[in-house]
Amino acid sequence: MVNLAKKVALVTGSTSGIGLGIAQRLAEKGCDVMLNGFGTPEQIQAARDSIVAFGVRAGFCGADLSKPSEIDTLIAETEKQLGPVDILINNAGIQHVSPVEDFAPERWDAVIAINLTSAFHTTRLVLKGMKERNWGRIVNIASAHGLVASVNKAAYVAAKHGIVGLTKVVGLETAKTGVTCNAVCPGWVLTPLVQAQVDARAVREGVSVEEAKIGLLSEKQPSQEFVTPEQLGGLVMFLCSDDANQVRGVAWNMDGGWVAQ
Ligand code: NAD
Repeated sequence: MVNLAKKVALVTGSTSGIGLGIAQRLAEKGCDVMLNGFGTPEQIQAARDSIVAFGVRAGFCGADLSKPSEIDTLIAETEKQLGPVDILINNAGIQHVSPVEDFAPERWDAVIAINLTSAFHTTRLVLKGMKERNWGRIVNIASAHGLVASVNKAAYVAAKHGIVGLTKVVGLETAKTGVTCNAVCPGWVLTPLVQAQVDARAVREGVSVEEAKIGLLSEKQPSQEFVTPEQLGGLVMFLCSDDANQVRGVAWNMDGGWVAQ
């Protein structure tokens, strides 16, 4: 049973892709949802509309998670607009692809800041209140790249392995409380983040976008099918449920068999 009615959920990076899919599943279960991320006013309004359609409240804060002071604002705005955070989904992420020797240091810093350090800040800011109320759920959206590596993704792989480590520590530090912290490790999901890699591959190999998708999946994902944001939302719902009370500090892959190889 998942009874999340009236819980307040903050989903970082929820204006598109996986974050938006998870936000919609949480809204479907009755959570008020704080959205965050970048996008045009029309995109942001559409995301908000898709949440309130479930009869719950939707807040929005466009904080840039590469900046710790804006993360302070994000948490303060969530509390002001919706109330204290019960469910924190650390999802915002970016990618940069390059061999290490050519990897621009400022891209390294940005990937680590958004994909890893922001989760430290959001977690440290909500954890005290969750512990006081003796209930909370923190779900970190890591990646198959939190468990295994690929070439040309040094910062991303380092950040995702880092967030799996952070998940374990927070899972241990909350072990005797009603707060849990776990990570989800998706394989390929066809979101704007991955579409950019598909498009680059199509150009590089002189193939169609459809052929590039098949090429991408064939390399890593034995099911040869993309994971969907809705499926990831389902796993997050389970991790937020009472049935998952003793699931603590895990990094749970949903990856079409990627890391089983
Ligand atoms: P996406 O590009 O569709 O969405 C990323 C979200 O993060 C957007 O809402 C964007 O506005 C937001 N964002 C980016 N930079 C930000 C910043 N500085 N401050 C605030 N928000 C910011 O990407 P996605 O594929 O949905 O990825 C979501 C998460 O899932 C990421 O952490 C990504 O690493 C992870 N992931 C994705 C895949 C995949 O195949 N798509 C696989 C494994 C893990």
